[in-house]
Amino acid sequence: MKAGFVTILGLPNAGKSTLLNTLLGEKLAIISPKVQTTRHRIKGILTEKDYQLIISDTPGVIESTEYKLHDKMMKQVKGALEDADVALFLVDAKGDTKRAHEMFDAVKIKSPTILVLNKVDKLNPQQIANVTGYFKDKPYVTDIVLISALDKTGIDLLLQKILEHVPTGQAFYDDDAISDLPTKFFVQELIREKLYSLYDEEIPYQSTVLVTEFKEKNTLTKIAANIIVQRESQKGIILGEGGRMIKRLGTEARMDIEKFLDRKIFLELFVKARDKWRDNDLYLKEYGY
Ligand code: GDP
Ligand code: MG
Repeated sequence: MKAGFVTILGLPNAGKSTLLNTLLGEKLAIISPKVQTTRHRIKGILTEKDYQLIISDTPGVIESTEYKLHDKMMKQVKGALEDADVALFLVDAKGDTKRAHEMFDAVKIKSPTILVLNKVDKLNPQQIANVTGYFKDKPYVTDIVLISALDKTGIDLLLQKILEHVPTGQAFYDDDAISDLPTKFFVQELIREKLYSLYDEEIPYQSTVLVTEFKEKNTLTKIAANIIVQRESQKGIILGEGGRMIKRLGTEARMDIEKFLDRKIFLELFVKARDKWRDNDLYLKEYGY
């Protein structure tokens, strides 16, 4: 049996959360085309007959930590690097490769690293050769693997390369565990994902979600959650005209949560304004950051 820790690192939008979900065959991390969707270190557990991998998705590395929320996000990244047996440096092969290089170059890491070029579905062979050539001789690269996290191509080879660096040992978690985080966390995240998909501008970044009630009844689970915004004026935006937006949010979130829990749910949502919560230690703690 092999067992070990894998950390996925990369610029915002490289596809880290998509890769975690693809590796696990389960939607664990929320995804959006907007940057900074992931705020926590999410550990997914992949258990097969002869190995167990504990895979950390991390928030994208943020260069300037503008708010205390950002500081907390960066602490999560550093923690994930410290206990990695192998790190995956994930690159959007069509994105800013120079910026990705600068970031990897600045990360001081002791474990072996696999450079993973993602989104190759968007590239032609010449473009693939160009990016591969660019990273080939970089000092932090042990191996290069090409994948599409979205189309699920290259994943078997990637797993094989990961396992080369994972030590022999006993499993750390039961074989039916999928994460070290509680169900409530994933419910919050599934609601929060809708704040990214349904609202624009500052709303996704200035809001968060807190589940306040989670009760399993006979036929369904009753869930209540607060959507927290920064200013009173943002409450109206969340609600939308005649409550239309929050209704849509509630319906879409409910469907995703039911799929995740494999159970009918009753979802009740409230909108609260908490002045400058992203810079307030007490609020950050209360909201799980
Ligand atoms: P993260 O910020 O690194 O966690 O990135 P996400 O996993 O949230 O993905 C960012 C965006 O890239 C989303 O719109 C994904 O659907 C998209 N994406 C991720 N992997 C791929 C891929 O292999 N191919 C393509 N075409 N898009 C991808
Ligand atoms: Mg992410």
